[in-house]
Order: sequence, then C-alpha cells, then structure tokens
Amino acid sequence: MSNFLFIVECVKPIQIEKKSITGAKVSIQNEFDGKSDHDNDSSRKLNPVNISLNDCLACSGCITSAETVLITQQSHEEINRILQENKSLKKEGNACRFVILSVSAQPVLSLAKRYDLSPAETVSKIVGFFKQKGVDAVHTTWIAEEIALAETVNEFIASYKERECSKENLSPMLSSACPGWICYAEKTHDFILPRISTTKSPQQIMGSLVKAYYAKEKQLPRDNIYNITLMPCFDKKLEASRNDFLDETTNVRDVDCVITAVEMEHWFQSESIDFSKIEPQALDTFRNLDSSAQNTLLTHPGSLSGGYAYHVFVYAAKELIHTNNAPVQFQPVKNADLKEVKIQCEEKTLHFAIANGFRNIQNVMQRLKRNRCSYDYVEIMACPSGCVNGSAQIKSDDQSNTKQLLRELEELYNQLPQFPVEELNQRCQPFYAWMQNLFGEQNLKSILRTSYHAVSKNNVSFSIKW
Ligand code: SF4
Repeated sequence: MSNFLFIVECVKPIQIEKKSITGAKVSIQNEFDGKSDHDNDSSRKLNPVNISLNDCLACSGCITSAETVLITQQSHEEINRILQENKSLKKEGNACRFVILSVSAQPVLSLAKRYDLSPAETVSKIVGFFKQKGVDAVHTTWIAEEIALAETVNEFIASYKERECSKENLSPMLSSACPGWICYAEKTHDFILPRISTTKSPQQIMGSLVKAYYAKEKQLPRDNIYNITLMPCFDKKLEASRNDFLDETTNVRDVDCVITAVEMEHWFQSESIDFSKIEPQALDTFRNLDSSAQNTLLTHPGSLSGGYAYHVFVYAAKELIHTNNAPVQFQPVKNADLKEVKIQCEEKTLHFAIANGFRNIQNVMQRLKRNRCSYDYVEIMACPSGCVNGSAQIKSDDQSNTKQLLRELEELYNQLPQFPVEELNQRCQPFYAWMQNLFGEQNLKSILRTSYHAVSKNNVSFSIKW
C-alpha cells in the first residue's frame, strides 16, 4: 500500500474573525505553529485544527479511507484472482467469466513515458500483457469518449434553448466526467448539482456498452462478464462503485474493477515482468465499428481531459449563434489552469471556461454563489492540468522533474491522432444506431445519463481523526 501513498497534503479552510477591513494574515512557520496577524500587529496562536473524514473534499491530494478500501477491492491482486479462477473453471470444463479491459489514453501515456516506449507500442503491449494473463478482449475507451462528447453537446444546446424561453437560469452547465469534482460538489455545494451535466463519464458509458455488447455477442448473463478499466486516478474507483452504476435487478456493476498506471507499474515489479519485452497484440473492435481506434490511441483536442469545453463551444457557436468559424482559443486568466473563451453575435454571447484544480473550482463556486458568474459552460477537472496529471499517474522519481514530466506527457497527448471536431456528430451516427439496437431506443437516455445526490455530512457514519 505504501507504494500508492504519495503526497499527504490536506488543507482545511479555517475561519478567522475579521476585526478590520484589512483582513487577517495567516502564517504557518512549521506544522504545529500557526499564527494570525490582526490589524494592530498583535498575533495570536491558532488552535490546532482537527480534520475528520467529514472535511474531506476529495481533492485528490491524498488517498481517502474510502479509496483505500477500494484500492484493495479493485487491485491487480483481484484481477489475478478472477483470471486464476477462470483458468480453473475452464480446466474443469465449466462456464467462466468473459473478461474485458477498456483503456483510456492518459495512463497509456504515463506507462509509455515510464518504459520509454511510443504510445502505440505501449497500447499493443498492454493488450499483449492482459491477453497473456487471460483477458478475453481489450478496447480503448475512444468510442465512449466520442459518445460522451456528442451527448454533452446535445445536452448543452437543448438546455441553452430551454433557458431562452424559461425564467429559470441554470447556467453555467458544468462538466460531469471528473469523479473528484462530482464528489466535492455532492459533499459541499449541493446548490450546484442541478447545473452539472447529466451525461455519464466515458468510463461509465464504456461499462454499459461492453456489458450489453458482450452479453449479446457471447450469449452470456451480465454477471458472467467482468469489466476492467485502466484509468488515470483513484477517484475512478469511487465512480465505478457509485450505486447509480449498479444494476439493482442483477446486482451487477457496469465497471467491476479500475486499475491505474501506478498500480500497473507495481504489478510488473511484484511479478518481475519486463513490460518492454511483452509480445504486442492488436486491440479488439466492436465488429469494426470503432476500427479507426484499432491499435491506435486516439484523443480529442481542446484539453488534456477529453476536450469537453472545446467540442461544446464549436457546436454551440454553430447551432446557437450560427457562426461556423468561431475562434476557439481558450486564453489563460489569472493562472494557466483557468482558461476562457468568449464569442458574441448580435445579442447572444457564449462564454466558456476550463477550470482545473481545486483552487480554480473554488473560484468558480464563489462567483456562482455571489451571482457573478457569466459562464455558459465550464469544463471542471479536479487535477491541476487535468487528467494527464491524475493522482495515479506514475510520478517522477525526482520531485524537481515533476513539471518536466508533465510537459512531456502534454506533448505526447497533443501528438496523438485526433479527428476533426466538426465531424463528431457524423462520426457518432453509427454509434447511436448501434446503441439503439443494443439497448432499445427508449432506454438510451437511462444508459447515457446519470444523476447526482447531495451527501449530508451527518450521513458519514464514522469520523476518524488523522
Ligand atoms: S481530473 Fe483528475 S480526478 Fe478528475 S477524472 Fe481526471 S484524473 Fe481523475
């Protein structure tokens, strides 16, 4: 476990009684010595702050107890156990589980950097490794990312039009793909929940797709399909275990196990596997529907976390203000992790932002609380720099190289092949037709959308003092 405990840096906001408009300055000399300087230059020692799980903002700065439990439940040991069990069942001639892995781009890049391989080589070695272990099919999550983007675009355009003819203003729409942000919103800002896009994250869309597809293809009950995802953060384990993604009739989850780049590295080390020597194999496709993603890692332009704001902006400019060539240059404001773009045409304006990291999330929340937020859409991601810098990406051995590593990962991400944004809807048409066939048209909404729930602090039944 200690391999996964990187940085434990938890900051609990404390209230300082203000005595003048100049405010108070808080200085921390060492970890036990906090002082507050008031206007008359006197200083007083601050009381030690007790932090409990109730205070956890799921900011990804540390690993919470809930995540620790999930790391044990969703680990490489667990995958090995399932695959071993499968081998024994097969040997005895019994039915076994069909095991699938879905791979997202960011952890592949992290492993590529760690083992000095190209992204394409890394993907094919990941496939080779898991197939050797007994996994039956390996896909990238690209098809689910395409669907999540198209769904978010449609959701935003519908809600913008609705807003124009209703008094209720639920702007801005906030992105929904980051479980770190969702967990924070549910715990601390329940007023914001109706503004969060209801589109499921690519991980969860992929989960629904692979379970339905292979259940039909292989004529298997859903509980005989085991679905693993390779993701950039531990928060994705929390997302996979939400009750919203549990089929209550069969008690089966869409995603059974999430594994991360740092856990893969640990897996190779614990079994003395030389990853660079693994025999490469080709990715699987859904009957050639996603053949463009075969053995190629594809991404989407706009950010290092999926390009939500970018895609929604291009389509909104076209649909809502009839501008085909809107300049989509997100410009940094205040810091590199808060970027904005704005376009105005006659009386209509589109004002979009990308906010990465909790400092910027809190900034957006404060503006919303004060009714001073003019954004129409905000792509919100809990990690500074977005998913490429997820909590479970492999860190640099040398702390001073962290920024350099991040820059290299960004470069790799931006070099990956991308399709034109303008063709997204066209590309998704066959995917929607396929899903209608798979789930039935009337069920598509429940497959692609989700909901959020305010978490009452009193519901947290245990309170551990760190
Ligand atoms: S921004 Fe960070 S916490 Fe959010 S989904 Fe990406 S890697 Fe996970």
